[in-house]
Amino acid sequence: MPVSDAANRIAVACLAVMLGAMLCGCKPPEGDNIHHGGGAVVRPPAGTLSIYQLAGRLNMHVVRTSAGSATLRNTSHAVVVFADPNGQVHLDGRVVGSTGGITCVGGILFVSAARVEPLQQALARAPDLKPTRRRKRQRPDPHRRAKPRGVIVLDAGHGGRDPGCTSVYGLAEKAVNLPVVTETARRLRARGYTVVLTRSDDRFVELNERAAIANRHNADLFVSVHADWAPNASAQGYTVYIAKGAGEASSTAAEVFDRHLGRIAAHSRGVRYADFRVLVRTTCPAALIELGYMSNAAEARQLADRAYQRRLAAAIAEGADAFVPSRR
Ligand SMILES: [Zn+2]
Repeated sequence: MPVSDAANRIAVACLAVMLGAMLCGCKPPEGDNIHHGGGAVVRPPAGTLSIYQLAGRLNMHVVRTSAGSATLRNTSHAVVVFADPNGQVHLDGRVVGSTGGITCVGGILFVSAARVEPLQQALARAPDLKPTRRRKRQRPDPHRRAKPRGVIVLDAGHGGRDPGCTSVYGLAEKAVNLPVVTETARRLRARGYTVVLTRSDDRFVELNERAAIANRHNADLFVSVHADWAPNASAQGYTVYIAKGAGEASSTAAEVFDRHLGRIAAHSRGVRYADFRVLVRTTCPAALIELGYMSNAAEARQLADRAYQRRLAAAIAEGADAFVPSRR
């Protein structure tokens, strides 16, 4: 790398650290770790993408984020987005534009979706950086790991001190989500996938950590599994959620899950949009499935039934198996 580039990049990195220290706020609200509590759904301004969603669109990873900036990287390039009001966007140490304003919601930086296309174009034009020997040794790129069929991260909602909702028969949601996810994992592993679970027993895992697990494993797909609750006891059906700013890949995955679940569950509420924290903090295609209503007597009975749980798991596994190979 030319000396001037190296100096530029050091200056950019220093500035990022300084701004991060200067700006405060951008903290998640209290109690954000409970799915049905505040913070499980974040409310960014319309037309924005989280820094993680932006990274996904650019085929990059978020390697660092603070209140002042975020650094995205892949094997060839580095993008730094600054969060100050006149924030610039740097590509490989050079200014390629401004963010037009960044919002911090629930501890997550959100940037205008209009930034995606200019950045994609700038990346397409930029000459590849040669990885330095130091970076090669210290930070092996997750893209280079052998993944014969793909990596799927399955997230059993709630756990431990967070039971989720409670069915009309008194069953905790966490005890429905886990067996469905465990059986889904068994089926996908049998098909040759690498499956990572955010929890494999009854333990509490923070929402941010659930998404971080998917990002760390460079997942091809993230699926969060929940069961629904409503004050109206007649509410029924399963729902597949994706983030409001979800890309085409997440939309495709959601449609595939909706179709496969429709073969065994009677009522689909269709694909819906909600910025669940676990969906906006994941870089890969991501969906959250609500299996049915624990507040509906008939569905609560089904959701507690082991055979029905296995059928749901089979449908989710088939959906993932239909989606992931099409993306690789
Ligand atoms: Zn839930």
